[in-house]
Amino acid sequence: MIIKRKGMTALAGIMAAVMMLTACGNYSTKGGAEETATVTETETEASEDVIVASTVSDEEETTEESTEATEEASTEASTEAPTEETSTEEASTEAGTEEASEEAKKTEAYGHIVVIDPGHQLKGDSTKEPNGPGSSTMKARVTGGTRGTTTGVSEYELTLDIGLQLRDELESRGYTVYMTREVHEVNISNKERAEFATAKNADIVVRIHANGSEASSTNGALALAPSSSNPYVSNLASSSQSLSKAVLNAYCDATGMKNLGVQANDTMTGINWCTMPVTIIEMGFMTNPSDDTNMQDSGYQAKMVQGMANGIDNYFAD
Ligand SMILES: [Zn+2]
Repeated sequence: MIIKRKGMTALAGIMAAVMMLTACGNYSTKGGAEETATVTETETEASEDVIVASTVSDEEETTEESTEATEEASTEASTEAPTEETSTEEASTEAGTEEASEEAKKTEAYGHIVVIDPGHQLKGDSTKEPNGPGSSTMKARVTGGTRGTTTGVSEYELTLDIGLQLRDELESRGYTVYMTREVHEVNISNKERAEFATAKNADIVVRIHANGSEASSTNGALALAPSSSNPYVSNLASSSQSLSKAVLNAYCDATGMKNLGVQANDTMTGINWCTMPVTIIEMGFMTNPSDDTNMQDSGYQAKMVQGMANGIDNYFAD
């Protein structure tokens, strides 16, 4: 780039500079518009608690991080997803010692199949996929997530950390558990995560996330579930809301985290492609110093995991 410019005439150099400025201007305007549109959508779709709803920085809502990884992520997209799914299957087969004991578990009281989806991944992928079956609305395959402002830990690290501990706890209670991912370097879209759960014949999907807000004082946990007017999964609204309520309440009981309630949300690709009850648990605000620090404490994490597992027990007991 610099070498080429040396050979340019002064006029060409100026024209190139003007073009670059114009291009930059267009880019940032477009980016801003998209971001505004996303925020508006979030505020419209979310339920009564406007303050909380507008700060949800979930899978499909964060636009900042998703743009930076576009090029690398899009080239890896097609090759990495199947590879990861294969390795996940292998790992979970190893977990159950034999096929026979795996079958025996399923007949036990708590022998249900749970898919845990640790939100996000090392790099977001802003290439698009349909927001639901047959939808013309296209959203980023998977975004980068939020980040701990005090600890510096990324959301994708926290979600996998807790997800793996929850897997171990649920397996010890007799559940069969499959993880959508067990490492950070994957590229699995939100639609693909939902399809993974269908392929595993899951009874429920627990999607693990953490929140972010511009206001550092905003704190607490909430859960997201589809509403009865969801155009794709209205049949799952009631069961998903029960699941969300059970997991969130037990989680907050165990941790003492502020309970911000279950919110209806029909804009999440990973919910809209589901074929079984689903919840997104937003475990706390990584932008709040107290929540962020707590969620990195091993003793606190044990309570988080116990709480979620208790909530899953409660859901199936009802
Ligand atoms: Zn998230």
